[in-house]
Amino acid sequence: MSEPSSRYDLVVIGAGPAGLVAAAGAAGLGARVALVERHKMGGDCLNYGCVPSKALLRAARAAAAVREAPSFGVRVEGARVDFPAVMERLRRVRDGIAVHDSPERFRGLGVEVFLGEASFANATSVAVPGKTLEFRKALIATGARAAPLPIPGLSETGFLTNESVFSLESLPARLAVIGAGPVGCELAQAFARLGAQVVLLEALPRILPREHEEAARRVRAALERDGVTILAGAKIERVSSREASGKREKTISLEQEGSRREIVADEVLAGVGRATRAASTWTTSSGRRTGGSSRRATSARPSSSRTRPTPWRGSRSRTRSSRAGSA
Ligand SMILES: Cc1cc2nc3c(=O)[nH]c(=O)nc-3n(C[C@H](O)[C@H](O)[C@H](O)COP(=O)(O)OP(=O)(O)OC[C@H]3O[C@@H](n4cnc5c(N)ncnc54)[C@H](O)[C@@H]3O)c2cc1C
Repeated sequence: MSEPSSRYDLVVIGAGPAGLVAAAGAAGLGARVALVERHKMGGDCLNYGCVPSKALLRAARAAAAVREAPSFGVRVEGARVDFPAVMERLRRVRDGIAVHDSPERFRGLGVEVFLGEASFANATSVAVPGKTLEFRKALIATGARAAPLPIPGLSETGFLTNESVFSLESLPARLAVIGAGPVGCELAQAFARLGAQVVLLEALPRILPREHEEAARRVRAALERDGVTILAGAKIERVSSREASGKREKTISLEQEGSRREIVADEVLAGVGRATRAASTWTTSSGRRTGGSSRRATSARPSSSRTRPTPWRGSRSRTRSSRAGSA
């Protein structure tokens, strides 16, 4: 970890896509930039989101192509999904991309990278373990994580989220996915194509409730072709678990269109509900809290700072920073 500069034009908290782009962009414009990451560079996108999910979908597409091959007159004998190999490839893909988000690469772009938990020490400085980073501007780009779902029994029973599903070592034979938004739909399709029996549960009357109806209808048809059972308008009442044939299985009790149903699964994946990672005590210059429903990167300004925007190439930056001077 490098020693902090005297004062940064910008301190970025969080090295997910938002923080990385902001840090690289500001450094490229000549600002003196610090980037703080407490967990893994690349954030959710690289580690628990876009990259592993697309790697899984790619393998799932290959499996689907093999399954459909006979209808094209192509015989594929003895094909089977080797799930550990699928996950091994996922990790290789992720590792290959990780170099682009690494501390080394960002240091090469002129960003000072600090690994550790950031918190605001006061209105003009951020504390990271053992260091204090003074700033003119700070950017909170701490993203979101899976929020706890208020479903009785779910936490006690245990469930997968985007942070754990890509670490599975064996394919669950039966998977229940809660939430038919983009994440729930894509993971339901991936696991179904890889051979799991998948039930997709959505509380609202249709899947992809934020998307155009026609698009959602087509996705539904595609999921059903892949063997996903879709229960829309499903109100989950509770989740419980029990021992059956030496294995622990989970039961989701729900109500759908006035009838009660039970879905039995080996794993339950929560594909819905995100909560901001910004600490509820972080406030912006206007005194607003950054917590609550906000999921976007938030610019925090110390209350003493002026609201007039100061370009990075401004004279103050130039006199303080050699990088700024060369920009
Ligand atoms: C399964 C899945 C699939 C997805 N697929 C896609 C896709 O195909 N395309 C797409 O565009 N989007 C996709 N997304 C969404 C995408 O992952 C997010 O939109 C993106 O990661 C948000 O970026 P971010 O930088 O705002 O936050 P994040 O990626 O969450 O990064 C925030 C970073 O801040 C760090 N942090 C938090 N608090 C602190 C602190 N106090 N100090 C220091 N560091 C801290 C965290 O450790 C994290 O690394 C997907 C998401 C999921 C879950």
